[in-house]
Amino acid sequence: MQRRPDGPDADVIVIGAGPVGLAAAMSLAGQGLRVTVLERDGHDLGPGPDVAERAWGDWRRPGVSQFRQPHILLPAGTALLRGRLPEVADALEAAGPLRLNIAAAARELPGMDGPRPGDERYDTLTARRPVLDAAFAAAAAAAPGVGVRRGVEVTGLLTGPAGPEGRPRVTGVVTQDGEELRAALVVDAGGRNSPVPTLLARLGGPPPASERAEAGFVYYARTYRAADGAPAGPVWPLVHHEGLSSIVIPADHDTWSVVLVVSGRDHALKALREPAAWERAARMLPELDGRTGGEPITAPQAMAGLHSRIQRTVVDGRPVVTGLVAVGDAWAATDPQFGLGLSMGLTHAVALGDTVAKTGLSDPLDLALRFDEVTARTLAPVYGRLREWDRHRIAEIDAVVAGRPYETDDEVWHLTNALDGVKLRDPDVLRAMTEVACMLDSPENAFAAPGLVERALALNGGPAWTWPGPARAEVLAAIEAR
Ligand SMILES: Cc1cc2nc3c(=O)[nH]c(=O)nc-3n(C[C@H](O)[C@H](O)[C@H](O)COP(=O)(O)OP(=O)(O)OC[C@H]3O[C@@H](n4cnc5c(N)ncnc54)[C@H](O)[C@@H]3O)c2cc1C
Repeated sequence: MQRRPDGPDADVIVIGAGPVGLAAAMSLAGQGLRVTVLERDGHDLGPGPDVAERAWGDWRRPGVSQFRQPHILLPAGTALLRGRLPEVADALEAAGPLRLNIAAAARELPGMDGPRPGDERYDTLTARRPVLDAAFAAAAAAAPGVGVRRGVEVTGLLTGPAGPEGRPRVTGVVTQDGEELRAALVVDAGGRNSPVPTLLARLGGPPPASERAEAGFVYYARTYRAADGAPAGPVWPLVHHEGLSSIVIPADHDTWSVVLVVSGRDHALKALREPAAWERAARMLPELDGRTGGEPITAPQAMAGLHSRIQRTVVDGRPVVTGLVAVGDAWAATDPQFGLGLSMGLTHAVALGDTVAKTGLSDPLDLALRFDEVTARTLAPVYGRLREWDRHRIAEIDAVVAGRPYETDDEVWHLTNALDGVKLRDPDVLRAMTEVACMLDSPENAFAAPGLVERALALNGGPAWTWPGPARAEVLAAIEAR
């Protein structure tokens, strides 16, 4: 093994140069810390013109399985970039993003009252995922104190003497070439397939508290471009039907994507991976009218295994390891239907920077506990809501496939569906729903106005709700028709 002279190689080592790893690196370097980011993928997009086209056409990122899947950056993420990482917002502006207001189309529907002061909260900047990542990469490359090394895979963790808490203390990493790099803090930003849980297990300490849903969703996504302009933004991006959901994701340079989402346990709908079957199913869904007419620039791309997973390294008030924290998808991966992963991860990255600004790096126990507290207070509730929604939705689809009604006495599930059902019929419900969907507010606060929930339930006829649109059997028949 190669050895470096004694002394840390950086203040912080970040594993993974995805958006969250780079956001964490920039937040930490903003405090004068030296941050080294190690990224397994070797290909660097580099500077130059036509960023969007080069990022989409040329950038190879096998380390991020969803790199070519549709992404939307929701308003919480955009606001955070503008407020805390303006250099990334500037780089994104330079790449030619789409400017979108999430409530703009819905507020023009009959019976709604048009724009209101404050609606600019729902403004966002978004782009295809490679274009978003290019903005992070360009900003990080120019950030003082941040060094990004691509083509370097972390394969081991270095440890020092255990701290007073008696738990393993991480002091650095080992790379695939045997290089040892030391730092006061290692940040795991290795994404949903981060190797760190496996590397941690080798250290022999107590295991982290982890949870992994047993079933998840499958995405069948297709991206289009129209030479004469993309269709207007969707009335609402995510629409649920009996047994499947659709998502419309507008993006940069007149591109947009359409996703059909099904349960991983609904084997009959696997036929959607075939382009003709996908198109026949899409034609069944009224909200997709006019949205599959452009030039397809991808085939229907399947991605399975989309379930929630979380790992917590503070268990019963004690960290199982110090000198190492996880951010973004490495901490918790969520159901992507709601498009919140980037906004959650960026919030997490900035929260890490803020925590380190308070604790410094010399007391790893204090840092571990405080970062866990912030994470539990701000992001864990969002994760928990998404996990609960998934649990019900998967069970509901199981029931549809088995030909029986889905029965649950969980009032939150019924209430969520009832409110969802009237969001396009009441301007206040629309705003409250948009606040929650864009991670701008909690459901408790967003729906706190006196009488709002009662009014919504009356409009909907009560909490008994069934998804409108074609039945699963009709979609299946369309898919199977030749
Ligand atoms: C199908 C799908 C659709 C999605 N749609 C949306 C959406 O619309 N909006 C949204 O906000 N979110 C969406 N998400 C979630 C979003 O993709 C993630 O939240 C986001 O990628 C998290 O960023 P990250 O930086 O934490 O991880 P990643 O982007 O996964 O980056 C992790 C990085 O770590 C590197 N790495 C891994 N192991 C090592 C190692 N051993 N050594 C060095 N480097 C390593 C990888 O190569 C990679 O570059 C979607 C996710 C999926 C799966």
